[in-house]
Amino acid sequence: MNIVRIHKNKVNSIERRHPWVFSGAIISEVETFKDGDIVTVCDHKDRFLARGHFQHATISVRILTFEPVDLDQEFYNQKIQNAVELREKLNLINPNSNICRLVHGEGDSLPGLIVDFYNGVAVIQCHSIGMYNSIELISEALKKALGVSLTAVYSKSSDTLPSRAEGKDVYLFGECLTPHVAKENGVELNIDWITGQKTGFFIDQRENRFLLGKYARNKKVLNTFCYSGGFSLLALKEGAELVHSLDSSKKAIALTEENIALNDFGKKHQSIVADAMEYMKELPEAYDIIVLDPPAFAKHRDKRHKAIQGYKRLNAHAIRQIKPGGIIFTFSCSQVVDKFLFTNTIIAAAIEAGRNVRILEQLHQPADHPINAFHPEGEYLKGLVLQVD
Ligand code: SAH
Repeated sequence: MNIVRIHKNKVNSIERRHPWVFSGAIISEVETFKDGDIVTVCDHKDRFLARGHFQHATISVRILTFEPVDLDQEFYNQKIQNAVELREKLNLINPNSNICRLVHGEGDSLPGLIVDFYNGVAVIQCHSIGMYNSIELISEALKKALGVSLTAVYSKSSDTLPSRAEGKDVYLFGECLTPHVAKENGVELNIDWITGQKTGFFIDQRENRFLLGKYARNKKVLNTFCYSGGFSLLALKEGAELVHSLDSSKKAIALTEENIALNDFGKKHQSIVADAMEYMKELPEAYDIIVLDPPAFAKHRDKRHKAIQGYKRLNAHAIRQIKPGGIIFTFSCSQVVDKFLFTNTIIAAAIEAGRNVRILEQLHQPADHPINAFHPEGEYLKGLVLQVD
């Protein structure tokens, strides 16, 4: 097996179970290794440390185990069984909801692997070539862990792998027509993993949508960056007076409208195709609740400053214009903007808008998107519920 030997100053990080080896930590020759090779990570004296997937990239090894075991069918069976058991304990698949994340990369000790579940269908998304090379093992492990509740497995990795890997999007087991109807918090959703963004839906906002529902009765709501309308649907289910859903993508708005129709909420809903940053400058009407859930403004640290300016501007517009006593659900999914920086940015926006703002709730990613304690980089979604006096 290929050996990756690492610098003695970098051993500490792996002994603390951080699951990544960066290229700068490697002291052995790896040029001949192929992307996706299974490698053993050793210290400078050849002592075993870990085993994982190699890739020619800044993150050179994604560690799957700190034990000297094979990454075979049995290994994946065990890991995926553990991941499924956690979701079962959390009762995430029930008559009201049948959408959840089954595997969340490092959070489930399977770096490079995402598996989302939509009412019987598992959608696999690989972020490393090593994981992609293992999809048959992963698919088998999913079948074993889920039994008859699994009707199909779809692999969608063409967007998330480097282009040299030529990831193919195919069914590995069964088949399912899309859009496929699934449920979250009692509302029905059309899910299309083939044409949709990511695996088809933003599962990470499930609990936060539920919370919005609690605030929504008789309220007038503006849901910006709505994608397929998840927040809008919960607000309408819980008795909002009117909901406006806004996205710059016509395709996203078409998805929202299909979901609104599916639940028969059309009478109290209107959609708006617009750039949210522009639209928020001067709202044509006043709202009781505004949801701000933009895409990651910064994917890298060097874009962080610009991202913060973006969050500040967007939130200042909302705080300035919301009705007295109004509520803002504001989010950031940029991993490089941590919760302290995000909160400070919102405080800066409140100062700029010149209104009194209270933080009512602090929001985060749900338990099916767990954070590996040894991999703090896994924390990405944070949000605040604000009340503007
Ligand atoms: N809130 C959504 C997920 C948001 S994903 C949910 O609950 O599912 C981010 C969305 O922002 C995408 O749909 C994307 O089309 C949209 N978007 C990106 N830039 C935008 C912009 N400048 N103005 C409005 N929408 C934008």
